[in-house]
Amino acid sequence: MFTTDFKETPYWWDHAPPEPKADTTLPKQVDVAIVGSGYTGLHAAIQTAKAGRSTLVIEAEAAGYGASTRNGGQVSTSIKASLPQLTKKYGPQLAAEILGEGQASLTFIKQFIDDEKVDCDFQVVGRFHGAHTPKQYQQLANGLGVNRDVFSDDAFIVPRSDQPTELGTEAYHGGVVFPHHASLHPAKYHRGLLGIARNNGAQIVTHCRVLDLDRDISGFRLKTQMGEVRAKRVILATNGYTGPLSPWQQRRIIPIGSYIIATEELPKSVMDRLMPTDRILSDTRKLVYYYRPSPDRKRILFGGRVSLQETDPSRTGPKLHAELARLFPELAQTKISHSWSGFVGYTFDTLMHAGNDDGLYYAMGYCGSGVGMASYLGMRIGQQAADNPAGLTAFNKIPFPTRPLYFGNPWFLAPSVLAYRIRDRLGV
Ligand SMILES: Cc1cc2nc3c(=O)[nH]c(=O)nc-3n(C[C@H](O)[C@H](O)[C@H](O)COP(=O)(O)OP(=O)(O)OC[C@H]3O[C@@H](n4cnc5c(N)ncnc54)[C@H](O)[C@@H]3O)c2cc1C
Repeated sequence: MFTTDFKETPYWWDHAPPEPKADTTLPKQVDVAIVGSGYTGLHAAIQTAKAGRSTLVIEAEAAGYGASTRNGGQVSTSIKASLPQLTKKYGPQLAAEILGEGQASLTFIKQFIDDEKVDCDFQVVGRFHGAHTPKQYQQLANGLGVNRDVFSDDAFIVPRSDQPTELGTEAYHGGVVFPHHASLHPAKYHRGLLGIARNNGAQIVTHCRVLDLDRDISGFRLKTQMGEVRAKRVILATNGYTGPLSPWQQRRIIPIGSYIIATEELPKSVMDRLMPTDRILSDTRKLVYYYRPSPDRKRILFGGRVSLQETDPSRTGPKLHAELARLFPELAQTKISHSWSGFVGYTFDTLMHAGNDDGLYYAMGYCGSGVGMASYLGMRIGQQAADNPAGLTAFNKIPFPTRPLYFGNPWFLAPSVLAYRIRDRLGV
């Protein structure tokens, strides 16, 4: 019987818990100060430290407190916009470059984990993306044709008749498999990055919010909860946790809560029937569900947006469980063991952005798909801050849009979620 006695911390923290607060002091002056210690901040730090720049990462909470230790561990090419949409906006060359960055992010994270031997359950398992209506199935099939012209991704269509080899549910009308997508354990990956950043000489100071950022003649002055530090350059790596520290970025990032549960351990026979492969899973709903087996194949981790307003995991746990049971009716009586949430950073054009305003660098806006892309853009923005021209990306060439009357509080979120929910139910 479903109960509410679940933990309200990420399942991942059972194996890689947040580090306890350490006794640290802030340096007086560094070459590069990085605000935020998720994948973006740590990958940036690895680059600047490797390039010989004295590097300080400052984190308001425990290291990796944000989305980087809370996510679903699904690794994809991250770009939501299609080739025709991007071509219409940016022309064929820049559109291809942008999609190329998505592929580059996937290649980068695989190579990085392999080269650095990061112990994080990384596996190239592929993704099954289910069509929640026949129309969506047709669109998936058509879309594959378009993207194949540019990228030789060997994605393939799975008709409904073959679906049982992918997933034990009647809820989809077929789908598409992206064989190169991967999975990992987000908190173990983050723990690995922390070690690599430190080994390269970066200092990580946690439980220390940056309160204010001023420019002066030699760069920046950062006022923090632990005092002041000067930096020649600053990298903002705050994504869905971007706040009033950086009003320009705050006007461009839409923080959206994403909610996720883990089931109790399930019998092997049930896991093998419902999830015959290790693939990561998602679907064509606007309010997408993302789910997967746990790395040990004993549980199902299931995430999505099930509330109009931001709320807490004690409320979303039962709602997510109900959606899980809709896909897999035999899980109606299964208990959940964990329910948690975190903030993703959305943008008005659904693209991620990276850039630099006279020494103030930023990389953010991964729109809920940042495991690979935050790693990659963190690496690239670190290179930029270390004056390495290889750091420039297609995202440096596009504007980072905002909207009139938007200052960081997404007042339009609840009506948008409601509209998407209605569209998803109507199957349009
Ligand atoms: C529930 C959930 C599921 C997700 N699932 C997936 C998935 O399966 N696949 C995928 O690709 N992506 C997923 N994502 C998105 C992905 O996790 C993020 O895109 C990625 O982790 C962003 O990394 P980041 O380093 O940019 O930001 P974060 O990891 O969010 O780090 C930002 C940090 O900045 C700190 N900070 C903010 N302001 C300050 C300040 N003033 N001073 C000091 N520190 C500050 C915050 O405390 C925070 O720790 C998911 C996200 C969530 C929340």
